[in-house]
Amino acid sequence: MADIIQLLPDHVANQIAAGEVVQRPASVVKELLENAIDAKATQIKLLIKDAGKTLIQVIDNGLGMSDTDARLSFERHATSKIKTASDLFNLQTKGFRGEALASIAAIAQVELKTKQEKQEIGTILKIEGSKISVQDVISTPKGTSISVKNLFFNIPARRNFLKSNAVETRHIIDEFQRVSLAHPNISFSLLHNDNEIYHLKSDNLRQRIIGIFGDRINDKLVPINEATDLVKITGFVTNPKFAKKKRGEQFFFANNRFIKSNYLNHAVLSAFEGLLANKYYPSYFIFLEVNPSSMDINIHPTKTEIKFENETAIYSIIRATVKHSLGQYSVAPILDFNRDSNLDTPYNYKNKTKKIPNIVVNPNFNPFKKESYKTQTKDWESLYVGTDTLKTNLDTTKIIIESELSQTKLFEVETDKPIVKTYQVQGKYIISTLKNRLLILKQNLAHQRILYEELLTKITIENIGSQQLLLPTEIDFTKPDIAILFEIKEELENIGFQFKEFKSDGIIIDAIPATLPQEKLVETLEEIMNNIKLGVPRNGFSQLDAIIKSMVKSMAIKVGQKLTTKEQEEIIDKLFSCKETNYAPNGKQIFITYSFDEIEKKFN
Ligand code: ADP
Ligand code: MG
Repeated sequence: MADIIQLLPDHVANQIAAGEVVQRPASVVKELLENAIDAKATQIKLLIKDAGKTLIQVIDNGLGMSDTDARLSFERHATSKIKTASDLFNLQTKGFRGEALASIAAIAQVELKTKQEKQEIGTILKIEGSKISVQDVISTPKGTSISVKNLFFNIPARRNFLKSNAVETRHIIDEFQRVSLAHPNISFSLLHNDNEIYHLKSDNLRQRIIGIFGDRINDKLVPINEATDLVKITGFVTNPKFAKKKRGEQFFFANNRFIKSNYLNHAVLSAFEGLLANKYYPSYFIFLEVNPSSMDINIHPTKTEIKFENETAIYSIIRATVKHSLGQYSVAPILDFNRDSNLDTPYNYKNKTKKIPNIVVNPNFNPFKKESYKTQTKDWESLYVGTDTLKTNLDTTKIIIESELSQTKLFEVETDKPIVKTYQVQGKYIISTLKNRLLILKQNLAHQRILYEELLTKITIENIGSQQLLLPTEIDFTKPDIAILFEIKEELENIGFQFKEFKSDGIIIDAIPATLPQEKLVETLEEIMNNIKLGVPRNGFSQLDAIIKSMVKSMAIKVGQKLTTKEQEEIIDKLFSCKETNYAPNGKQIFITYSFDEIEKKFN
């Protein structure tokens, strides 16, 4: 049989390659804007007609091209940005594949005008379906203007496949926003059908964000900042109070390149954990700077998905940094303790000296007995102890109060808070009034929030302390569970657990956190393990958070538990002294309110 394999002609190969690079008008926008940035432009103008279907034009004041380069720039794999494969590991530019212009010219009518600063006269080039129709000299300002007309004119199937103008314009605007956010020092403008949509002057990042998303975002921006050997993090997150119900503005940039990463997105969201209701999302604009060699942007042709060498470490650092900023700006429970450059555990709770476990909480202490609230702040810890009578083997003669509890200002009752009356209904809700509104809150969730903030403060700032068990307690666990516990042993010890032995069928415990009622021990450990199994990232910091949440869940007063009026008031007081009052640590809404106007209307 005769040979049947033949090489595809260039223009066919280009058309096939174009399918990868150019999915829609927005892809062209991205490539052209990036080329202008790589050419060191300080002013970039984007003109669009009919959602880019008729015209996409980018005009820059960058370096321009010589006439030979202008011609070469449309060849496939023609690039000025890398010379050898090893350059790939030290990329400083957006482009490097040298296929964007070749691809675009294969599927559109392209006109290029360009001039370098030192040239007297510029070059004009017209290409259609990979064929050059005009190459000439022209008088044109320094820089480059590329217009791309009638995209997919020669591939009707692709052209028909484009979405409505509204959708394609949205994609273009997204692309424009990403690129212009990544480069606040460059002026950008966008005109669609001759209407100016954006006119962004060179400025700092905050002003650029405001320029794009409007003045209203200004007050919501919480700066973030962290520098480690591995990564430098800057940018903003929005205050959780302003979270949106839809995903909103979420931007990650790695070395000033917009990237998508579900994994890193999770790091940010998890830093907001406990601060946001279900289905609410924060906005963020986070810039990562890493050594270019530790980042592989080559795994996707349109280069938004990338791989980092040290992804898990970067995850931890992002999470800790965002958490820290939220704490610093008083929008989250305080997490303001010394920093540690140790990457696995960005915060140094790890190095805190453990309390000698000679501390016992009075097991007969009834948290809700009237006299125990003579001084509000002194006895706040009582809520920890749980409300069931402790079935316990604690040495009741050895009662030592662990630390100066009155130092804790967190739960001092605000005097101007008029609490009228409270009622408990269905063993589940507490009903009262709050300012001019009717308040209905869930006792269990409110208490979880209170305990969470107390524990977080105690663990991260004060050291939580241990209570020694009279007799070491043995608890049976399966092998995989023991392995998990062993892995987080250090975190557990930091909050007051002491282990005597890890056996093949169980563990022996010597001491437990001072705040943990002993009868909640097994439940808490199981809760912790479940949480860890659900995929808490394996770093000390997240695990600590998960551990606290687990403790809080098992310690909080449950649905069905009857509360005295005093107890109900305590809960309301303490909840409204929390940093976050709206949501429980698990993200659920704690209370709802109705204005009396709303109620009045119901009677009509
Ligand atoms: P890449 O950006 O991957 O190198 P492109 O096909 O996008 O590939 O561009 C090819 C080459 O054309 C670039 O390497 C650059 O030298 C030149 N070029 C493209 N756009 C511009 C521009 N706006 N200003 C100056 N040079 C440009
Ligand atoms: Mg390019």
